[in-house]
Amino acid sequence: MAQAHLKIDLEALAANWRALDKLSADTVETGAVVKADGYGLGVARVARALADAGARQFYVAQAEEGVSLRDALGEGPEIFVFSGHMAGDSDMLRDARLIPLLNSIEQMTRHFETLPGHAFGVQIDSGMNRLGLEPAEWAAARGIVIPQGPRMVMSHLACADEPDDAMNARQLAAFREMTQGLDTTLSLSATGGILLGADYHFDATRPGIGLYGGLPFADAQPVAYLNAPVIQIRDVAAGETVGYGAAWLADQAARVATVQAGYADGLIRAMGDNAVVFADDTPCPLAGRVSMDMLTVDVTHLDTAPDTLQLLGAQQGIDDLADAAGTIGYEILTSLGARYRREYS
Ligand SMILES: *Cc1c(COP(=O)(O)O)cnc(C)c1O
Repeated sequence: MAQAHLKIDLEALAANWRALDKLSADTVETGAVVKADGYGLGVARVARALADAGARQFYVAQAEEGVSLRDALGEGPEIFVFSGHMAGDSDMLRDARLIPLLNSIEQMTRHFETLPGHAFGVQIDSGMNRLGLEPAEWAAARGIVIPQGPRMVMSHLACADEPDDAMNARQLAAFREMTQGLDTTLSLSATGGILLGADYHFDATRPGIGLYGGLPFADAQPVAYLNAPVIQIRDVAAGETVGYGAAWLADQAARVATVQAGYADGLIRAMGDNAVVFADDTPCPLAGRVSMDMLTVDVTHLDTAPDTLQLLGAQQGIDDLADAAGTIGYEILTSLGARYRREYS
């Protein structure tokens, strides 16, 4: 079998949720962000494991994701939709009992007209300029909206992965000012904000990447383990080249293993020769370019020919691969392809 194997450690996922939950007071409701198919790891399995761990509030990017999530979770948990109430969403929001986080006056009008009495939250812009009502809009709308009982008023931090960035304190101050005097559930923080400390926690938090083992939650346990089979090993003479573009030159006799997994499986081509894979504890550098279905790996220094090589695991996490590719762990996770044999344990 040439299929690579992606193991998703649901116990580590649950442990990461509990660890993030412990960082805030007992009165703070720790949610779970499971957008983009649970950051690429499979929303149904991921969400059920998080619900078992204790999560009661879930977040998705769009209503369609909320419908699948409702099927996976059943009735109990609250499901919030970051994109709010878009045209065409009303039936999904009603039937799957999703809570849109309304982003604009237009969305508020749509929501109150098409689904009067249906639960909603409000997203306000504290400075990121991506989603949410601007301070002036909110000042005008809040007297009408608050009496309708929003489930939550939330905003999002732009620089929470950089604790020293002055933007964090500016957004905190803006959020406090915009929510002053409200007796409503307030939420400002994703993973990064939870790590900034109690000032940022308010009533509900929305961790995503930290649950899945990624930075900025440096204490996270790895969740994704990726092993790919070696299809062939060859000896390469000094002066020969390997792979597309003849980009890797053997400056002395070498052994090269060809591994089944490539950029079509989310192993971003830009990681090129910067990445390593592991034979047990031994790092083995990539030799040449990433192909669509394959990697070529320099295994000259190994005593025994490996049957499989590990790309993600205890030795190397999503952020290491991301560094090699000049990206972030989020993109590595959400790029992991559909071609892996997936196993949940
Ligand atoms: C994606 C997202 C989150 C989760 O962020 P992480 O950095 O993955 O923890 C929380 N809130 C909003 C609004 C988001 O878009």
